[in-house]
Amino acid sequence: MTRSNPLTALVLHGGAGVLAERSYDAEIAHLHSLAEEGRAALDSGAPALDVVCDMVRALELSGLYVAGKGASPNRAGRYELDAAVMDGRARRAGAVSALEGFLSPVDAARAVMEHTPHVLLAGEGAAHFARERGLAPVRDPDGYYIPAAAPDTRAIPTGTVGAVALDASGALAAATSTGGTLNKVWGRVGDTPIIGSGTWADERAAVSCTGQGEFFMRANAAADVSARVRYAGSDLDAAVKGALDDVAHLGGEGGIIAVDASGAVSARYNSPGMKHAIAYPDGRITAGVT
Ligand code: ASP
Repeated sequence: MTRSNPLTALVLHGGAGVLAERSYDAEIAHLHSLAEEGRAALDSGAPALDVVCDMVRALELSGLYVAGKGASPNRAGRYELDAAVMDGRARRAGAVSALEGFLSPVDAARAVMEHTPHVLLAGEGAAHFARERGLAPVRDPDGYYIPAAAPDTRAIPTGTVGAVALDASGALAAATSTGGTLNKVWGRVGDTPIIGSGTWADERAAVSCTGQGEFFMRANAAADVSARVRYAGSDLDAAVKGALDDVAHLGGEGGIIAVDASGAVSARYNSPGMKHAIAYPDGRITAGVT
């Protein structure tokens, strides 16, 4: 199938790791329909930055993934969420970590980028800022969050959502949001809101990671994808493979989605599956867990 210009592309993930004993039909259908929606927005000229934020907000609000409504409490019983967004063209970024009490952490991350001179706000200060910006609160955390139905017995159970996009003007953007690893310690912050580790976008590539965040931080995985393109001349998929191999070399597991300025896309994982959807520049849309 060939399409006329503009060239646009979009990749979504709903977290690394799938459990053999349950069906992911609902997540796959959701990711597929979101990819259709995102593709339509991109093709009608929406900026990549808006589209990745819209996609991640919809993933957060769905309750289908371990982010936003689907987040699980940490060991202290608190819902501390992380999110980040990065605008590739201007290399602007915003993030929140250990944020409690808001429906859409990615909206808070974008507000940090657009309404402060900072990149990352944490904990109570991030919540105070989100309140000041009038972002929608979670009024009753115990009534709102719906943690995963099935127990996850992996050593470091994970789940995150993310989106990367190339828009019709050639701009790239990435956004990621997570409830973090399950059973995390109070105050733990993972790779998602760390610019360069779990989220990255520049003029070459937009990248969003999922998996055992500590390893992605130690590998600086998201920025490593772009560095491999820039310094080693790798194509995007080889760069994603190289970055993920480095995570694996450290002992970590997870996945990486990426898109570059030519419309090349990549979605790789070394975990047991990764919920994802891809809207290719040629018009095809695929979604799956493997
Ligand atoms: N990377 C996320 C974190 O470590 C978790 C995940 O992707 O599932 O917080």
